Amino acid sequence: MRLGLLGGTFDPIHFGHLAIAEAVRYEMRLDKVYFIPSGQPPHKRRRVTPAEHRLAMVRLAVASNPYFEVSTVEIERPGPSYTVDTVKEFRRLFPQAEVFFILGMDALAEFLTWHRVGELLTLCHFVVATRPGYPSAVKGGRGRRVTVLPVPGVAVSSTEIRERVRAGKPIKYLLPEAVEEYIYAHGLYR
Ligand code: ATP
Repeated sequence: MRLGLLGGTFDPIHFGHLAIAEAVRYEMRLDKVYFIPSGQPPHKRRRVTPAEHRLAMVRLAVASNPYFEVSTVEIERPGPSYTVDTVKEFRRLFPQAEVFFILGMDALAEFLTWHRVGELLTLCHFVVATRPGYPSAVKGGRGRRVTVLPVPGVAVSSTEIRERVRAGKPIKYLLPEAVEEYIYAHGLYR
């Protein structure tokens, strides 16, 4: 079994996340992609929306794709959400699986600062999806464990969606309709 893991703050989830998950799933022949909303993200300084809302939006967004699953491992784990702990947990739960951690090109820039990155590189493969606005040339890649994959560009970010909601601008066609409705129903990002 080939398992993809897509960690993120998902504040909120949008078509950029869904597009990379689907493209990587297909290109890397993954059997499942797990979306893993973070508990306390170690890299984000701003106040993040409560996990229950971010999780609910991820669940709504992935419901129509039979290859997509949601994992609450990071939300349930106390303390900062470190990818190294998450990958170890998945390897324990699925000892036969090959694990592919998916990230966007912007996240790659910070990758070398991740907690216990040396150990992390020995635990799984990494698939780096291109992201509009971020150069896709990778210097000093660590060999076969890191694959850079060109994917259809979806130039949207959670930051942009939060700013648009705050400014009263439309977010339609940037994320799934059910997520849009959830944001308005719960008064998020105002
Ligand atoms: P924010 O704007 O709040 O920083 P974000 O839109 O970057 O959020 P995250 O939840 O931080 O979303 O992203 C989770 C993962 O998805 C990261 O690896 C990120 O690089 C990747 N990603 C997010 N949006 C895109 C996109 N539009 N194209 C490619 N990768 C993306």
